[in-house]
Amino acid sequence: MKFIDLKCSSCGSTMHINPELTKVTCKYCGAQLIVDESEVEEKTVTKLSLEIKNKLYDFQDELDSIKMLIVVSIIVLVGGIILESLSLWPYLLPVGIVLLIVNIVRFAVVKIRLKEFRETVVDEEE
Ligand SMILES: [Zn+2]
Repeated sequence: MKFIDLKCSSCGSTMHINPELTKVTCKYCGAQLIVDESEVEEKTVTKLSLEIKNKLYDFQDELDSIKMLIVVSIIVLVGGIILESLSLWPYLLPVGIVLLIVNIVRFAVVKIRLKEFRETVVDEEE
């Protein structure tokens, strides 16, 4: 008889179960689980790519937040140029320049890490 691994969606324990069962009670936490063999197999196959996807989403979140900071830096920079040209307050302009440089460097670093990550993923899948 063939057994499959089913991960309890309630407590996370893994059980070996007979795939002919449609329902099973988790022996660790007592949760009622519905068995869907196609889903179980798909989960095992897509587990790795799901982790990769999550990692890629993390990268995208980081890039998005840095993009926001670059926009803020540009606003500070423009504000600084205006204040400077009016000879009002000369301190905002250098702050804007530093913020912009720091965030562009961070953006480039994350882009490089993302590229390296994509390359390792391709290596693993080959
Ligand atoms: Zn459980």
